[in-house]
Amino acid sequence: MTHDSGDGCADYLERIVFFLDNELDDADCAQVQVHLDECGPCLEKYDLQRTVKQIVARSCSERAPDELRDRVRVQIRQVQFRLNES
Ligand SMILES: [Zn+2]
Repeated sequence: MTHDSGDGCADYLERIVFFLDNELDDADCAQVQVHLDECGPCLEKYDLQRTVKQIVARSCSERAPDELRDRVRVQIRQVQFRLNES
């Protein structure tokens, strides 16, 4: 198994988003977990996204209309794209 910073990581970043949303099945979860253990850059991005989600969850806990949640989702995507470019 390789963990160069090529296409593999981009693929994992997509899955990390679903991983954080608990939208992966067990097999994919395990794969992401293994990759995070091996790949420092992806782990950093995972930590950052998790932090963003926690902030979002806190700020949305009182009132979370669908419109706001959609906007938050877009913001998380934008963070992800910025991370992908760096
Ligand atoms: Zn990686």
